[in-house]
Formats: sequence, structure tokens, C-alpha cells
Amino acid sequence: MGLFGGRKTVFVDADILVIGGGMAGCGATYESRYWGRDLKIVCVEKANIERSGAVAQGLYAINCYMGMQWGENQPEDHVRYARNDLMGLVREDLGYDIARHVDSTVHKFEEWGLPIMRDPKTGRYQREGKWQIMIHGESYKPIVAEAARKAATKVYNRIMVTHLLMDAKKANRVAGAVGFNVRTGDFHVFRAKAVIVSAGGASHIFQPRAVGEGMGRTWYAPWSSASAYALPIQVGAKMTQMENRIVLTRFKDGYGPVGAYFLHLKTYTENGYGEEYEKRWYEDTKALVGDYIDRHPVPTCLRNHAILKEVAAGRGPIRMVTKEAFQDPHKETVGWENFLGMTIGQAVVWASQNIDPKHVNPELTTSEPYVMGSHATCSGAWASGPEDYAPAEYQWGYNRMMTVDGLFGAGDTIGGTAHKFSSGSFTEGRIAGKAAVKYVNDMTNGQPQVSEQEYRDLEKLIYQPLENYRVGRNEIVAGTVSPSYLLPIHGLQRLEKIMDEYVGGISTNYMTNGVLLARGLELLAMLKEDMSHMGAEDLHSLQRAWELDHRLLASESVTHHTLFRKETRWPGYYYRGDHMKLDDENWHCFTLSRYDRNTGKWEMEKAPVYHIVD
Ligand SMILES: Cc1cc2nc3c(=O)[nH]c(=O)nc-3n(C[C@H](O)[C@H](O)[C@H](O)COP(=O)(O)OP(=O)(O)OC[C@H]3O[C@@H](n4cnc5c(N)ncnc54)[C@H](O)[C@@H]3O)c2cc1C
Repeated sequence: MGLFGGRKTVFVDADILVIGGGMAGCGATYESRYWGRDLKIVCVEKANIERSGAVAQGLYAINCYMGMQWGENQPEDHVRYARNDLMGLVREDLGYDIARHVDSTVHKFEEWGLPIMRDPKTGRYQREGKWQIMIHGESYKPIVAEAARKAATKVYNRIMVTHLLMDAKKANRVAGAVGFNVRTGDFHVFRAKAVIVSAGGASHIFQPRAVGEGMGRTWYAPWSSASAYALPIQVGAKMTQMENRIVLTRFKDGYGPVGAYFLHLKTYTENGYGEEYEKRWYEDTKALVGDYIDRHPVPTCLRNHAILKEVAAGRGPIRMVTKEAFQDPHKETVGWENFLGMTIGQAVVWASQNIDPKHVNPELTTSEPYVMGSHATCSGAWASGPEDYAPAEYQWGYNRMMTVDGLFGAGDTIGGTAHKFSSGSFTEGRIAGKAAVKYVNDMTNGQPQVSEQEYRDLEKLIYQPLENYRVGRNEIVAGTVSPSYLLPIHGLQRLEKIMDEYVGGISTNYMTNGVLLARGLELLAMLKEDMSHMGAEDLHSLQRAWELDHRLLASESVTHHTLFRKETRWPGYYYRGDHMKLDDENWHCFTLSRYDRNTGKWEMEKAPVYHIVD
């Protein structure tokens, strides 16, 4: 194979394989060791766990902390909050399970050295909002990663996992995973008794607002490439709520977060003419969603909705009124530090655009949609719930096990559980780790068998883009457009354009309908056909090719789910023009999908929503 002819195959045996060493993966690795003292626990990560995942550059707040030690909130309160924000549809069993354990996770972070701010008067953690506590987060990820590193038998950094392996003897049971080292090109075969997928959410499946040289500047991490969804989808795991993509209101051009501004600095928004506008859209929104508009706090999607309507009515831009708060030097410092701590790019954008928030009210905008399971959104895999709390219908195996035996998930991977954020994702990783240890210890019918044929076939497939490029490159003398291969960047742009125009992205103001979605699926199928012509000039490009493959499969899932749910449940995230209203009578349910890789067909079904907390 030319340049990569010397490539090695590295075999790794593990009891538990954790894929993705972000927040959830570190939690899973840490807890697996606690319960499985003698087990072989391996964590595999495409970057380096020291600074990988969505929290890579540090955060300013931990967004999920109950404060039970001070009687601030109870787990039931968090379930009610998440349910309300997601317009009634969350897996209450899973959410409760995280909420009851999340405080202990945060206490561990503090013990491991994370500086958490304290209120000087009460001595309690400094609250930014009802659920958020403020931290000095620059070293958040290295601190969490250290715990995982010490717990793991081995951490493999720089390995992009491309496919899961299935048991050759027992149907519907996972047996490991394969991937390649993005620096050396070595092929890795991981054989495992249980696999925990914690590979983050998905950016760049919809056309981003930031294009050209700014295209890497998305709100959700640009390296979140949908592996968390594609890996389970490929092997037939059921997914849920994949239509529930999230759109964020953020400071324009830098995607700087607004939470601290609203909650801590008490800033507010106004339209381009300095007017309050949310009340103006009250009746309009009520006609779409009924009394959800009267809930407190107003669901995130509905706040987006008012912004979109006001801008469409020609009264934009929407601005954050910072001029008043920033007269207070303390608030001014907090406002800037909020960005310097985690979104430095926003501070740089403001500096470069002559925006001093003390004198100019900065513009807000709504982002392109993202797919993830840990923020104000709950796309992901359909998982079995906790034994002591989940309704029978939500229990078919071990806690956080998907509908594939031995395949667990946590964080952005798991659907139905919004508002877990960094601390909740780590906590869910711990829950999955504990359950996976039990699964391994209970294993009585022999361990999974990996078929050599399967991984050798996958090896051929994985490196094919390098070969396509090597051969096809000879047909052109210059430039990047070839008659025989497609570069990952070209494929990505094509995917983003399809999703944007047909599935409710920014260019259609988040609007779609059954006709558009059906055409979108046809175009996605054509892109899928072309994926066998992917060309990769080097290992970096090979990684991009497989990230695109994962994004494409997740996009197909999003499109099928959006087509299936014939209502507009979350105005402000997306609209079904042919079903503009929320329809609780027919759609107060979860949507589930299952992909059959042999036929390429998707099956859709509904699952009931159980309200466990009153
Ligand atoms: C801009 C931004 C601001 C946020 N602000 C806050 C905040 O203030 N407070 C808060 O609590 N939370 C915040 N969050 C949310 C928080 O970061 C996420 O909830 C959390 O990181 C999700 O954990 P995860 O493990 O599922 O995903 P991640 O932490 O993203 O980890 C996924 C890991 O999988 C790896 N990976 C992906 N694909 C593969 C593959 N194919 N093979 C191997 N490895 C792979 C990735 O490199 C990564 O390390 C924010 C997120 C973003 C993007």
C-alpha cells in the first residue's frame, strides 16, 4: 500500500473498552476501575485525553449541580426543569439517575484540585444560576483526565475509532472496535467484552454560519464528528429523539455564550430599535405550543423562536444590552473573563470589530443546528434505565446498555437526557462504567469472538481513501478537483448544504417539510454512494474522511426522525411547515429508529413517555 505499506496491526484485549476520553469517557474509565479492580480497562481517544472533547479549552461554570448538601435543589426538581425545557419529552428515569449522583461527582472534581468559586457570605459554591456553579475551569479537563489516566490499564491516544466489531458467535452482541492511529497509520483491533461509547456530539452536519477561513469556528466543538451516533447506528442500536437538534442563541460571529450574561450580569435583550420584543410574540407562540409558553423558565427553543420572529419581521438585529451592567467594574471584569476563560475567540472578534460592550450593545444570533445529548437537547441512543427506577418498558438489560448486548453509552451518546452538561456527562459515564463491570462479571456464556474476516475487511475499507487518492492523483496536474475521487472537505460541504437546505438549517430559517425531507434523503443517499470514491492524501485527511462518514450516517438519522415526527415540537430549533403546531395528542412520545446496515433501510417507531416525577 505505497507509503503505508509498513503499517502494523496492533491487537488490544480489554474487558471494558471506552471509546472517547472526553467527560463521559473519563467518568466511565474512572468508575470501571473502582468496581472492576482486576479488570483490563482501556480508553481509546482520537485526540489526547489531556485536552480533548467539548470542554477542551476549559469552562467557566459547571452547569449541573443540585446542591443537595445545602438543600438547594433535589433530583426531582432537575427532572421537572429538563422536562419543561424539552417541551415535555425526557427520559425521567435516566435524568433522575444522573441528578441523584451528580453532586458526588462535583465533590470529586474539587477533591482532585478543581478550583470552585465560593460565595464569601455563605461559604457555599458560587451560583451562576439555579443549576450552575462557577469554576476556574482552565484546567478542568486535565484534572478529570488525570483521574482517568490513573484508573485505566492503558489510554490509547490518537486513535480514531471507525467501526464497532460484532460477536461472530452470538447475534446482536458487541465484541470490540477497530480504528487507526492518526499519526503512525497503524491499524488497531480492540477486542472487548463490553464497550462504552462516549464519543461526543455532532457539529458540522449543518452548514455553519462561519464559513471560509472561519469554518472551524463553530459553537459545538468542530472535532465533535458524530461518532457517538454513527458507531452504534452502524451495528443496529436504536436511536431516539435524533430530530431534536439544538440551535443556540449566542454572541454573533464568535459564538460566545450568553448564560453568564443573563444569569450573573443580569443583562437583557432588545431589538434593533431598542424595544422589548418577547411579549410581542406571546400570542403567536401560544397558538403554536399552548401553555408551554407560560412555563417557567421559558423553554430554550421558545426564546429562540421570539428572536427568529422578530428578525424576520424586519426589526433586527437582536442585541444584548451590556452597556448598563458594564458600568459596574466588577461585572465588566466578569463579562470579559467569561470569554477569556472559555471562548477567547469572542473577545478577539469584539476587539477586531470595535465592540466594547461598555459602550456598544453586541449583536446576538442563532447558531446552525447541532446534534448532541447533553445540553438543552437530547438526541442519542436508546438506553436501558436504572433497575430501581425505570419503568419495565425502559429496562431490557443493564443500566445505560443500548439495544445491542454489551454496548453501553454516556454523555452526548445517550438520548432522552437533556441538561447533563459536563458534570452530568461524567456522572453518566460513571453509571455506565459500573453497569459495564457488572455485565462483564455476569458473563457466563463465553466471551465474544472477533472474526478475522470482519476486521480484515474493515481494514481494507478504512484505508481505501488513501489508495483512491494515490491512484487518482495522477489524473490531474494541479488543483484539488479530481474526476475520480472526492476530498473530505468537498464531501463535508456537500453534506452541510443538503442538511441546511432540506432539513431545516440557517438558510431556510430552520424551516422544512415532508417534501423537502424526502428530497434531502435522496440527496444524502447519493452522497453515500459517492463515499466509496473518497480520496485522502494523508492520515489527517483519512481521519476527516471517516469523520465525514460518521456525520453522514448521523445526518441520515436526523432526517428520518424529522420526517417521522409530524409536528413542530420545538419551534426555535426547527419547524415542520406542513405541521406547524405542537401535537400532544399524537406526538407526546419518543421517536425511535433502527438502521439495518445490510439493507440500508431505517425502521421508525414511537415509544411512550412515562412521567415518573409529578
Ligand atoms: C462551547 C461549549 C460550552 C460549554 N459550556 C459548558 C459549561 O459552561 N458548563 C458545562 O457543564 N458544560 C458545558 N458544555 C457541555 C459539555 O462540554 C458537554 O456536555 C460534555 O463535554 C459532553 O461530554 P461527552 O463525553 O459526551 O463528550 P466530549 O467531552 O466532547 O468527549 C467526546 C470525546 O470523544 C472523542 N472522540 C470523538 N470521536 C471519536 C472517535 N471516532 N474515536 C475516538 N475518540 C473519539 C473526542 O475527541 C472527545 O475526547 C459546553 C460545551 C461546549 C461545546
